Amino acid sequence: MDTIQITLPDGAKQEVAQGTTPIEIARKISHGLAREALVARANGELLDLSRPLDHDASLAILTTKDADALQVFRHSAAHLLAAAVLELFPEVKLGIGPPIENGFFYEFLREQPFTLEDLEKIEKKMHELAARDLPNERKLLPKSEALELYRNWNQGFKCELVEEKAIEPMVSFYTTGKFIDFCRGPHIPSTGRIKAFKLMNVSGAYWKGQEGNPQLQRIYAACFFTQAELDGYLHRLEEAKRRDHRRLGQELDLFSIQDAAGPGLIFWHPKGGLIRKQMEDWLRDELLRRGYQLVYTPHIMLLDLWKTSGHANFYRENMFGPLEVEKADYQLKPMNCPGHILIYKSHLRSYRDLPYRLAELGTVYRYERSGVLHGLLRVRGFTQDDAHIFCMPSQIEDEVAACVDFAWAVMKTFGFSEYQVELSEWDPLHPENYAGSVDDWQHATQALANTLDRLKIPFKRMEAEAAFYGPKIDVKLIDAIGRPWQLTTVQFDFNLPARFDLEYVGEDGNRHRPLMVHRALWGSVERFFGILIEHYAGAFPLWLAPVQVAVLPVSGKFAEYAKEVAAELTAAGFRAYLDDRNEKLQAKIRDSEMQKVPYMTVVGGKEAEARTVSVRHHGKGDLGPRPLATFLADLRGEVDARATSSDSGN
Ligand SMILES: [Zn+2]
Ligand SMILES: [Zn+2]
Repeated sequence: MDTIQITLPDGAKQEVAQGTTPIEIARKISHGLAREALVARANGELLDLSRPLDHDASLAILTTKDADALQVFRHSAAHLLAAAVLELFPEVKLGIGPPIENGFFYEFLREQPFTLEDLEKIEKKMHELAARDLPNERKLLPKSEALELYRNWNQGFKCELVEEKAIEPMVSFYTTGKFIDFCRGPHIPSTGRIKAFKLMNVSGAYWKGQEGNPQLQRIYAACFFTQAELDGYLHRLEEAKRRDHRRLGQELDLFSIQDAAGPGLIFWHPKGGLIRKQMEDWLRDELLRRGYQLVYTPHIMLLDLWKTSGHANFYRENMFGPLEVEKADYQLKPMNCPGHILIYKSHLRSYRDLPYRLAELGTVYRYERSGVLHGLLRVRGFTQDDAHIFCMPSQIEDEVAACVDFAWAVMKTFGFSEYQVELSEWDPLHPENYAGSVDDWQHATQALANTLDRLKIPFKRMEAEAAFYGPKIDVKLIDAIGRPWQLTTVQFDFNLPARFDLEYVGEDGNRHRPLMVHRALWGSVERFFGILIEHYAGAFPLWLAPVQVAVLPVSGKFAEYAKEVAAELTAAGFRAYLDDRNEKLQAKIRDSEMQKVPYMTVVGGKEAEARTVSVRHHGKGDLGPRPLATFLADLRGEVDARATSSDSGN
């Protein structure tokens, strides 16, 4: 008998008979591995555990520790769903059922819509079929028989797929119970281990995603290896819903988007406006402290300027159309860069002026299709916390380091502790696709990498991910429920300095071209505000909270003292709200809790007499009575430290 050589991931080699299957090899390694095995990877290709191996191969047995195995597992779960649906609704026509992020879907043509009760029944049936541990069996059929099988079964969509996709003379099928699928596989051996799934919802989808085709019903499911992972996912979904900034924005009266004004345009209500002021005050102070100069540039500028910058060409589809005034075309600005460049160019700059850092909370307008707009996160008008740094090549490492340090200050100040960093590089095989010289790119990319290394910040290199005009680093912050948000960008630009012919007079008396860096920390005020609402679940830390203290008199009898307390708070610079409505104390406390006001002070007879307040914290509950002066000092300390609430989950 012929033998073949199998190389395992640890480098160990085994001689086995040709036709040995991965599961047999797994059993030889250990029973534990054979029990845990889901699928195999041979020479980089995923394979059923029962597929005979015909050639020498490097082989890995994949278990729940492997991300590829999860995709296969979810695909098998999609087959289980189809099998269950066929048991209950044998008349359905089958579409496709791939694994997706967090689960899978399968699509069906059926006249009546699937109801919630149907989903429950289907889920139950899936568990039944899973418990029977049905094997997922692979079969090969000649293409003609495959077509006949589906024709006889009246599965038109599947016929179409076989016609289009089956290229080999033999077509592979997988059966799970009564379900037979034209499918390349691979699959896990049987249904027994598919336990942690939940059918989430049904939505309409055109066959092959093309309008005009029949509309199928997609049943979406969440699916994981373990119940704990599924529970974790469902919990995060619930949390995300509870934290949705669009809902909280309305409940807390922070902002709105008005039909009368148009989509994607944000109205900041007084409470949102107050938070914005705190955010912007912090930012402006930091900018000045860190050597930036604050500027303002116009919202509309001549279209010709955008032709010089190139935006009128390569950025056109993201721009609002031009406006004609006195026979000249003007353009609503989609970016702040050309404005800052004009300020740079307004004087002849010398090396002594560099680095020249211009910062602007610059409002820009970009055309986004109405379908992709999303609350504060995706809008048509927004204010970037934008800055442009013009510097000499010798200065770039320090400048990049300063940008990263600033980004870290944002992270700390706004209560984030985890992050991911990516470095986007060019595609070294296609230098012709990029602006700037090979030298420019190598120097700038190296500066970004060196700086991150020097600061001991781990990062991921993203080859060929850079924009045509320069390499960049992106910082994503991880929020309170583990979601990454792209915020800070530090981006080199070799294009604009050339297009605008930027210069400085060097120490040698000659003209040189400065380097230009675009950088934004929050990205935009709107988007960052949306992220903060979700990160804090609307319970802003004291320094940001629009109302910091609610003063709640126990009854009308103590209105006078309550008024005094509120006045003292206001005089000390705090944002206090006196709730002197003729309501029960419990109702007032409930309303303040709903509004997520950080502190409540309850005042009654005892408090008035002793000149104290009974303090209640949103989240921590009752903190007991305190002299008013002590309370004021505590508040001052918390605001000055910009303490981020320890209970952002509330
Ligand atoms: Zn399949
Ligand atoms: Zn820019």
